[in-house]
Amino acid sequence: MTKPRKRSNLSQYTRNAKRMKRARTQESETERQARLSANRERIIMSRASESSLETDFRLSADSERHRLMRASQTPLERETRLTADHERRILSLASETYTERDSRLTADRERHTLSRASETYTERDSRLTADREHHTLSRASETYTERDSRLTADRERHMLSRASETYTEHNSRLTVDRDRHTLARASETYTERESRLTTDRERHTLCRASETFTQYEERLSNDRIHHSIARALENNDQHLQRLEVTRDNYDLMQQNRDNFLASERERLHESRQVESEERRLARLNADGLWHTLNRMSVSSEDSDESQEILVEYNVLPWVNKEKSAFTYTPLINYTPYALIGGMIVSCPFCNAVKWQNETSGMCCSNGKVHIEILENTPDLLKALLNGDHPESKHFLDNIRAYNDIFWCESNNRRIVYADIQNSRSGISPNWFIAA
Ligand SMILES: [Zn+2]
Repeated sequence: MTKPRKRSNLSQYTRNAKRMKRARTQESETERQARLSANRERIIMSRASESSLETDFRLSADSERHRLMRASQTPLERETRLTADHERRILSLASETYTERDSRLTADRERHTLSRASETYTERDSRLTADREHHTLSRASETYTERDSRLTADRERHMLSRASETYTEHNSRLTVDRDRHTLARASETYTERESRLTTDRERHTLCRASETFTQYEERLSNDRIHHSIARALENNDQHLQRLEVTRDNYDLMQQNRDNFLASERERLHESRQVESEERRLARLNADGLWHTLNRMSVSSEDSDESQEILVEYNVLPWVNKEKSAFTYTPLINYTPYALIGGMIVSCPFCNAVKWQNETSGMCCSNGKVHIEILENTPDLLKALLNGDHPESKHFLDNIRAYNDIFWCESNNRRIVYADIQNSRSGISPNWFIAA
């Protein structure tokens, strides 16, 4: 005999709900807390005794209910829910003990590992894309201090994790890194590659500029050891393979460079087809100046004129002009924008030679300012300056120091000369002042 099931209907639920609602408006805070804690315990008990099938069933019912509820939410309700979630999460994170934190992270890791193991290639790709977008957004809005503290935290976390890794872990991390880099580099364009190398070079230069002599020696010695170990460990095949990889990389680099130059030539050719005559002349002028500058800088470094090499600069356009005087780089070709012509203007009042765009008042205020004609240079000074004195070379090499002394004494209209002979032996010269 089975007992007939108790009839349940909607009005019964409604009556119960109303009664409960009434009871809750009247309960004290203590009563509320007691009720909630009893609820929690009941839930924990019931979940502890549920079978895995029951758990699955409960979770899928929950997620279905949540999905339905969220689908019908307005954007404002959604926002409110997310904010509340976020606040609750922050509160719960702030109050968790070390053990709780550890077990939460372990559970997270396990859950992620599981979920990632079963994801398809497309799912993985879209997860990574979403992550990247999320990071880009959050980094774009972070302040300098936030960025700095993020990087510091990253560095510390990496250092800690590397300090505790085993040799195998170390090796497999490096292998994964290498593979990732190889993949990323295989797909980068010539311009991306060049800009990566430039950034690297700048970072290394900065980092090396600030290293002490001991750090410098240590770095070189570490490099040497590292290379000799790596090469000593390689067998003949590996040796040949390394050489082949190097050769292949070089060939690939050359190929990419050729392709890039060809496409640049093509682009230039197209842009010159539609160039105006005025623009063309300005460009040729700038090019000429640029090449002259290049030749000058090369031949001044290497006095042997026959070894004059034409340096081909990888020239970048001058795009960001804001405060660029503080970030001068020889990699940028400023000449097309900064060509100001020759000093071809002569002031009708004072005969000052000026650039063509300098104002007429900037030398003598249109003749309002008169400067006395300079007196004749004393014979000794004239000879020293003209190279007619046996000590001229020494004098001209040290002219700045001499000028400083002349400057402070000439106010008193006294003539200064020095026993230059003494200064040859490293002794400070004797100075003579004539009233
Ligand atoms: Zn003038």
